Amino acid sequence: MGYAQYTLSDGREAGYAVQATCDEPNCDAKIDRGMAYCCLPVGGGEHGCGHYFCSDHLTYSLDVPKGESQSCFECDKLNGGAE
Ligand SMILES: [Zn+2]
Ligand SMILES: [Zn+2]
Repeated sequence: MGYAQYTLSDGREAGYAVQATCDEPNCDAKIDRGMAYCCLPVGGGEHGCGHYFCSDHLTYSLDVPKGESQSCFECDKLNGGAE
């Protein structure tokens, strides 16, 4: 990967060099906007809002063979809540 800094389609800065806080309302945990904190679609084509959350507000699942996925609680519900 290696995206240190880039601009999202909504105009926000993103990338692991960008310091930010969790996108969850009322959560001010310090994160960066790298892929490690991004809500990603599970295996592609499913729900993933692309917002950035701290580890408390992401759920992680290992879905072989799709690989590891991470999503916020809202998207996890939309994805069926797979553990
Ligand atoms: Zn999400
Ligand atoms: Zn958070």
